[in-house]
Amino acid sequence: MNTTPLAVSRNYFRHRAANQWHKTPAEPGEPGAIRPFLAGNWKMNLVPRSGVALAARIFDICKGVKDVDIGLAPPYTGLSALADYIKPDFLRSEYDLGRNVFLMAQDTFFESKGAYTGEISPEMLAAIGVDRVIIGHSDRRANLGKFFGFSSSVARRLTPDFLTHELDALRKREGVDPQVFAAIEFMAAEQNHEILAGLAKFLEEDLKERAGESDAVTQRKVHASLAQGLQVILCCGENREARALHETFKLLDRQIRIGLEGVSPKTVNEMIIAYEPVWAIGSGAKAAGVEQISEVHDFIRNLVMDLYGEETASVIRILYGGNVNPENIADIMSIAGVDGALVGGASLKAHDFAQIIRFGCLIRDRHSDL
Ligand code: PEP
Repeated sequence: MNTTPLAVSRNYFRHRAANQWHKTPAEPGEPGAIRPFLAGNWKMNLVPRSGVALAARIFDICKGVKDVDIGLAPPYTGLSALADYIKPDFLRSEYDLGRNVFLMAQDTFFESKGAYTGEISPEMLAAIGVDRVIIGHSDRRANLGKFFGFSSSVARRLTPDFLTHELDALRKREGVDPQVFAAIEFMAAEQNHEILAGLAKFLEEDLKERAGESDAVTQRKVHASLAQGLQVILCCGENREARALHETFKLLDRQIRIGLEGVSPKTVNEMIIAYEPVWAIGSGAKAAGVEQISEVHDFIRNLVMDLYGEETASVIRILYGGNVNPENIADIMSIAGVDGALVGGASLKAHDFAQIIRFGCLIRDRHSDL
């Protein structure tokens, strides 16, 4: 585990010595230096014109900041308006920013076109000027599963009344597999009602957490996006349960190995990894501690080293996400393995996000209304 040096360098080189990762300060723009990436995920918030207005306030407070990459991920509906607004020439003349501002999508689908109502392909995103795409966010992997998953509808079928009704219907049908009939009869029998209730509860409460996007789906999205020239921010992170069971590393190993499978050593440079412990995300939660972040980032970087070698591992950007705010960003950026942050709630407040982009430095409040 390595939390030193504590000094925050905005641009740096990374190297490995004595089995630990270190950062060495670099001049902004020095060839090969790593530039941190501070990305805001606006989730399902802001109509297009409000997104443009928020971006304008952020850029205004961050005038001239060139030594970090800034990313903004509005919902799909806000992408075009923001793409039109953040053209490099305009950013340079208005805000003295430039090619360090990146437009990001929050998700994508893995097919390029077809009968996939409601989905958006990487090709479509690239065509409107999207640079980067978030893939495998925990909202998609797990949180939204409770709305889209099958667990509650299956659980509703595990009641004695439902099964008895089904048995009556099956008795009237011909050719029913006797095994199916016997199983339902067994489950509906009075002495098994408790087992039934337990199973229903398990499906309702437990499976819904796993009903979102699988690692395999995430992998397909990664490949489809890279094929369109989009840079990918691959999210990973353990939930509270996995951490309590000491399965954090096992879970991350699976998510990252599968997410990166088939990505060539050449294209892996187009990848950014975001470690976002699910238990640290959102209002009411608390950011992970510096030690916890440091330990996991080292684990991920060492895994990338196993997969792609030390050179790739030393330059691949690994972000932290989960309640990043102006107060904790400097500590987080001081960690040797951390190259930036994926920010949710705080990225919706211009002043907070601008302060995060400036690593928590106080900004003279020209915008007291922000
Ligand atoms: C997120 O959802 O990716 C996130 C990091 O959210 P927050 O910063 O609000 O915890």
